[in-house]
Amino acid sequence: MIKLSDIKNKYRFDVVGTVKKASKNIIVLGLETRPDRDLDEFIGGNEELENWWFSGHKKYFSPRIDELLTELEKIDPKIKPISGYSDSIQLKKLAVMSGIGNQGRNTLIINPFFQSRLRLVAVETCIEIKSTGRGIYSQVKNSRCEECHLCEMVCPPKVLNNYRLINKEKCIAYRQLVNRTSNLRRCSLCWEACTRNKYWVKEIQLRYKEIIERMLPENENLYPQQISPPH
Ligand code: SF4
Ligand code: SF4
Repeated sequence: MIKLSDIKNKYRFDVVGTVKKASKNIIVLGLETRPDRDLDEFIGGNEELENWWFSGHKKYFSPRIDELLTELEKIDPKIKPISGYSDSIQLKKLAVMSGIGNQGRNTLIINPFFQSRLRLVAVETCIEIKSTGRGIYSQVKNSRCEECHLCEMVCPPKVLNNYRLINKEKCIAYRQLVNRTSNLRRCSLCWEACTRNKYWVKEIQLRYKEIIERMLPENENLYPQQISPPH
């Protein structure tokens, strides 16, 4: 039986979990996004690159996944990745099922060590591996988020409410993708909030106009009536 600690160490992942799904085993692999390794980086929407793509994932996940698949294909030739941003909802569910974390108010996976900074991919295989979590998906409210609310408070368009993204079209990170902006830093306020405090939130609220102009340079008047002044 393959040991998860071997996968984690050999292929340099920060967390590894597994879950059984029908006759398959899913290996969920997580890497921390951080200043020197921006997994949310994306490129596109400019004259040179008409379509955007997730360059951060490509740079940091792909080499590890390629190495892992090359090795495990020797045991299971049908092993395949089930990853990518279009699968992000499924990935979050798999992460909860495999015990990597719970979903937070910012809708991301909250891991006890990495908080909201894990980004995920998964591979599906018939190789026998022991499951790590309870194998059940539930949106359990966690005690830390119950007390906190910082992500909801800092979000400029106020699209986070009670553990849900209530209006995807107004989320700045989503707009940065669909508007094909050439800006390479996605809005990260809601996951940065996990390690901040209410003073940081106040400071961000005072800079909403400048922040939005930087994040959505072609839509600088997008939110004026929706942004409440800080109290
Ligand atoms: S990415 Fe930005 S706009 Fe979207 S939910 Fe998070 S803080 Fe709000
Ligand atoms: S900022 Fe606070 S409420 Fe939001 S996800 Fe992080 S811990 Fe939970």
